[in-house]
Amino acid sequence: MRQKWRDRPHVKMEIFILLELLMSAVDSVNPVQSAESDRPTPPQLAIAPVPPLLGASLAELTEWVKQQQQPAYRGKQLYQWLYQQGGRSLADISVFPKQWRADLANVPVGRSTLHFRSEAPDGTVKFLLRLADGQIIETVGIPTDKRLTVCVSSQVGCPMACDFCATGKGGFTRNLERHEIVDQVLTVQEDFQRRVSNIVFMGMGEPLLNTDNVLASVRSLNEDVGIGQRSITLSTVGIPGHIRRLAQHQLQVTLAVSLHASNQTLREQLIPSAHRYPLTALLEECREYVQITGRRVTFEYILLGGLNDRPEHANELAEHLRGFQSHVNLIPYNPIQEVDYQRPDTRRIQSFVEALKAKHVAVSVRQSRGLAADAACGQLRASKVGAIA
Ligand code: SAH
Repeated sequence: MRQKWRDRPHVKMEIFILLELLMSAVDSVNPVQSAESDRPTPPQLAIAPVPPLLGASLAELTEWVKQQQQPAYRGKQLYQWLYQQGGRSLADISVFPKQWRADLANVPVGRSTLHFRSEAPDGTVKFLLRLADGQIIETVGIPTDKRLTVCVSSQVGCPMACDFCATGKGGFTRNLERHEIVDQVLTVQEDFQRRVSNIVFMGMGEPLLNTDNVLASVRSLNEDVGIGQRSITLSTVGIPGHIRRLAQHQLQVTLAVSLHASNQTLREQLIPSAHRYPLTALLEECREYVQITGRRVTFEYILLGGLNDRPEHANELAEHLRGFQSHVNLIPYNPIQEVDYQRPDTRRIQSFVEALKAKHVAVSVRQSRGLAADAACGQLRASKVGAIA
């Protein structure tokens, strides 16, 4: 099951990509207070079924326990067992009556099983997790002295088909349910034997195409697992109307938007869904997000050599972001096998940074460290699943 990282250069690279994205998201946190009176009523989320138990609140678990003709206090016992002890089978809850435990033995808790684990020399760990229906998803745990961050997936595969993204090349299978998202975080926490401090929705999938489950998982991660909303980042390529709707939930999470282009034509080349979502409309929704939440937006911008990395692109981008409470994170492209984009050299990256700075745009860039050019997001899953199937 375990495999050395040094034998798998593409694994190292993929982790590096995630690390880059993660650090940019963490850097971008810049809370600003918003006026309570401006806030619209949050939309209702679809109610998730219980069981599976994971992702359910104390109130939901207590209700479920009562439906089983048990006293309400067993809800609290179940809650603690689930979130603090990482319970996997209800048959193991020793504080429950024996007969009830036996009756509950097959009730789904909602935990995944480990399919593959791979650890980098710097301590970053990538997990492939097997879900109840046999689907495999990726999760990464990234430790530093002060933080343990988890990069979570929100879907099995991704339907957005962005041209530079390996996950997109693999197609879409289904949305993840809330327990499958919470499980990723608990799995990393248990593996590291350390509390998770930050979460970034930058694994497989488009979170805003699965908003109900993503936000239900955010509630649970915040209230049940104890992770601050400001330590949670949602990354989206942008779905019309969905950023506005997200804003109405009045969360304090950080929004990262995958912009990747300075004009509509270029964006359409890279991101198929951009055809139905003009750049100006996307930016307008982002402005509304800032207004409603008081939170700065991060714009992710992949630098593709010779394509979107010229100073005129930087100037064009700066024009769009003039007066916008935002932060640009430049991500030099990490090559994938399926397409022939180029990773720009350091000089070009620096020129782009300088051009943005000259226009007073807040910008950061993630530099690479000796990457072999053979992988990007999604590739480990593709190769391992392919080898096993
Ligand atoms: N669907 C969401 C989140 C998942 S991807 C989104 O698009 O934001 C997380 C980030 O990884 C996105 O910014 C995505 O564009 C970026 N990414 C995907 N493939 C990449 C590659 N080959 N090189 C660099 N960044 C990549």
